[in-house]
Parts: sequence; structure tokens; C-alpha cells
Amino acid sequence: MKIIFLGAPGAGKGTQAEKVAAKLNIPTISTGAIIRSALKEGTEMGLAAKAYIEAGKLVPDDVVIGIIKERLAESDCRNGFILDGFPRTIAQAEALDAMGVSIDLVVNISVDDATIVERMSGRRVCAACGATFHTLFNPSASGDKCDKCGAELSIRKDDQPEVVKDRLTVYHKETEPLERYYENKGILKTVIGQEKLEDTTALTFRAIGV
Ligand code: ADP
Ligand code: ZN
Repeated sequence: MKIIFLGAPGAGKGTQAEKVAAKLNIPTISTGAIIRSALKEGTEMGLAAKAYIEAGKLVPDDVVIGIIKERLAESDCRNGFILDGFPRTIAQAEALDAMGVSIDLVVNISVDDATIVERMSGRRVCAACGATFHTLFNPSASGDKCDKCGAELSIRKDDQPEVVKDRLTVYHKETEPLERYYENKGILKTVIGQEKLEDTTALTFRAIGV
């Protein structure tokens, strides 16, 4: 199975992608997570991406396309994968097509802007292992420490309210057109994001047929 998760920043695609990946035993590939870890390691790519991320802008297409090309060539992607956060522009979707990757299904997690803003303000991330939490909806069992690895949780710079507004603007302009793109290919399924994580997961599993 090759699946794409679409949705606004904070719609919960990462969380749902992880659940589906575990169930199908395929890897999740998150461009956001790859870029953030490059940033943390201070690689050339990380440094180049820093200003874009912190301003709520998209990292240039050629950079993320390069990341995806490299990652999809790894052996664990042979039996399928989930893309979380890629493609985010029509140009990225076209590049994926040009790589000869044939996607089976695109799950679009739909959540309104007001809910997104509320959710992002409570998001906490573990810089050490990449786990994400929410103070209300998905708290870490260890409070302000990561219950997976014990490291301190933090608020992403791009989760600050002004940056969130910019990210939503970018989403509507650059990423939303992908709904039509994949609808035209007949592979789009929309899941309405629910208040409870588990309810969204149930709808997501049903959309995928697992
Ligand atoms: P979210 O889904 O909450 O926006 P991500 O972790 O997916 O968070 O992405 C964080 C940031 O990384 C984005 O705001 C953007 O700057 C950059 N990024 C991630 N994926 C892409 C992509 N496919 N194209 C361009 N920029 C990306
Ligand atoms: Zn952790």
C-alpha cells in the first residue's frame, strides 16, 4: 500500500499516519520530521531549511523532492509506505508522478481553521525521538517529559500563533489544490477529523479498508 496523508498543519495526519503504519507494518515518511532532524543535527540541508520553517513557509520544492527521492529508495519502502507532509504543492505531486510512484490512496484529513489554531497551541514535541503530544488531546503520561524516551518536551517555533496563521494561509494556497489533483485521479478519500483521536483513527481505518 502506498498512501498519502493530506491535511492542514495540525489536522492530525502525523498521528493517524503512525497508527496506519503500525497496523500495515509499513514505514511513515514525514518530510517535516526529516527536515527537523536535519535542522537539529545542523546539516547543510537543515541550515538551508531553518528560515523557511521558522517563518511558516514551505521549504523549496527541489529540497523536499530530493529528500523524498532518497528516502523512497531505501529498502524498507519496498512493500509500501505512508507519506505524511508530502506532497504539499502541485509541483511536488507532479515530481512524485514523474518518479513513477503509483499511489493507491490519498487520505485527506479535514479540520476547520479555528480548531487547527486551538490544537497547535497545545502541541508539544520531543526533539530527541520525534514523538508528538498534545496537552489536552494526547498528553504524555510523563507530563512535560516524553513518555517514549524521557527527554524534555518543547513547543515548536512554528507552532506559535502568528506563525500558525501564516502556515494556514500557505496551506490553503499551495496544498489544498492537491485535493482536486487526487480527486481527478479517483484516489482521494476525505475523513472528517473528529474531536477524539480514536474516532478519527476508526474513520481513517475504514477509509483505507483495514
Ligand atoms: P505540519 O504538518 O504541522 O505543518 P510538518 O512537520 O509536516 O508540520 O512540517 C513542518 C514544516 O516543514 C512545514 O511548515 C514546512 O516548512 C516544512 N515542510 C515539511 N514538508 C514539506 C514539504 N513537503 N514541502 C515544503 N516544506 C515542507
Ligand atoms: Zn522522546
